[in-house]
Amino acid sequence: MWAAPRILRAQTAPVVRLTDKLAVVDGGGSNILVFSDPNGIVLVDSGAPQSGEQMMAALKEVANGAKVQTLFNTHYHTDQTGNNELLAAGGATIIAHERTRQWMSADYWIPSEDRYEKARPKAARPAQTFQTTFTSTLGSEKIQCGYLPLAHTSGDIYAFFKTSNVLAVGDVASPVRDPGLDYFTGAWIGGRLDAMDILLSLCNEQTRIVPAYGPVMTRAEFKVERDIMEEVRVRLFKQVREGDGPKEMLAAGVLSGLARTWKDPDKFLYDAAKGLWAHHNKLDHNVV
Ligand SMILES: [Zn+2]
Repeated sequence: MWAAPRILRAQTAPVVRLTDKLAVVDGGGSNILVFSDPNGIVLVDSGAPQSGEQMMAALKEVANGAKVQTLFNTHYHTDQTGNNELLAAGGATIIAHERTRQWMSADYWIPSEDRYEKARPKAARPAQTFQTTFTSTLGSEKIQCGYLPLAHTSGDIYAFFKTSNVLAVGDVASPVRDPGLDYFTGAWIGGRLDAMDILLSLCNEQTRIVPAYGPVMTRAEFKVERDIMEEVRVRLFKQVREGDGPKEMLAAGVLSGLARTWKDPDKFLYDAAKGLWAHHNKLDHNVV
C-alpha cells in the first residue's frame, strides 16, 4: 500500500540470503529481491525514496557492486520504485505492467491524503511493459512474470524465479501492514482474492514468497493470509448487499475474531467499500 514513509523493520539484518543466488535487501523499510549470478543481476522493486545509498551498499555486499541489468517493479508505489532513476542511470532496464507505467507517467490524486502525487521523471518509468505475462532466462534461471488484475493497484505483477522457487509478490501479500486496496485504480477485495489464488497455484510447499514488506513467507503462511482475506470478503459481500458503508461494516464486526488485526480498520474498510461499490455487478450471481 502507499503510505507516508515510516520505519517498519521486520528484518533484523539489511540482507537476508535465501539461496546462493537470491537475497532480500532492505530498501528503506520495503523489500528488494536481488538475484545475482555470473550472468547478471536482476532486482524486483527498488526500495523507498532516500534509500539509494543503503541499497547500493547492500548490492555491493550481495553482488560485488556489479551492474544491475533488469529491474522489475511489482507496482507503481513510490516505496517500490524509489530508486528507479538511480538504477536506470546505472544501465538497468525497468520492466513492469503497462498500467504501472501509466500511473507513473501522470500526476494522480491520492484521496486519503488529499493531494496529488507528481508524475515520475521519464528515467524512473518502465522502459518495457507487458499486459499478461513476461518470461526471460538468465543462465540456468527461468524468470516468469504475470499480471495480478486489480489486487492492490491496477498494475500488480508477480516475479517468479522458477529454477530457485522464489516468488516475489509485492503488496499482494501483506503479512505486516494492512492489506492495501487502491480502489481509485480499480483494485478491490475480489481482485485480491483472485490474485492470491493465482499465486497459490504457482507455489509448492518449498516456495519462498517475498512480500513488499515483512519477512519471507512459506506457502502455508501465505495460505493463512489468503483464507483470512476470503473470510473478510464473504463478510463484506454480505454487508454491502445490505447497503452498509464502512462504519456499519466495522460495527457489524467484519474484522472481528480473525487471526490478524488491522492498524487502521477505518481506512481499510473505506477503501474496501469503495471497491465493492465499483464492482457491485460481481457481488452475486443474481445481481446483473
Ligand atoms: Zn503498494
